[in-house]
Amino acid sequence: MLTQNNTTVATEWLDRLKASGYRLTDSTRAVVQVVAENSFALEPAQIFISARQLSPHLGLVTVYRTLDKLEETGLVQRVHQLNGCHAYVPAAPGHQHLLVCRSCSRVEYFSGDDLDELFGQVGRERGFLIQDHWLQLYGLCSVCQKEEAAG
Ligand SMILES: [Zn+2]
Ligand SMILES: [Zn+2]
Repeated sequence: MLTQNNTTVATEWLDRLKASGYRLTDSTRAVVQVVAENSFALEPAQIFISARQLSPHLGLVTVYRTLDKLEETGLVQRVHQLNGCHAYVPAAPGHQHLLVCRSCSRVEYFSGDDLDELFGQVGRERGFLIQDHWLQLYGLCSVCQKEEAAG
């Protein structure tokens, strides 16, 4: 479902792609439209199915190519799933950690690094110079917990 806000996000993304010299076709626009307006981790095959409804001649290669470009531009965040497949969500600014719902694939971001102390300790113990980290937590989002409770 399109809301005014989401349309603006997709428009912004298209402007960014255009500014970086990317050629915008109907297929590219359809992929951007699908990815920009959701907060769920979508696999390329799912994006393909949704975006093809907007652009019937869309090919899977274009989906991958557009996702690569969006990732390169910093607009999407790649999500690692427990099934080994990659999925994508709109990126959040700054250093963020992810909460990934195992049931509905909703992704939420959280920031804050109380973990620095722990990581520092691990680094000291192992003699490892830690320079960066990437953190995803898996579980059930609040919506899915309620649904599970309701049975
Ligand atoms: Zn969920
Ligand atoms: Zn962090």
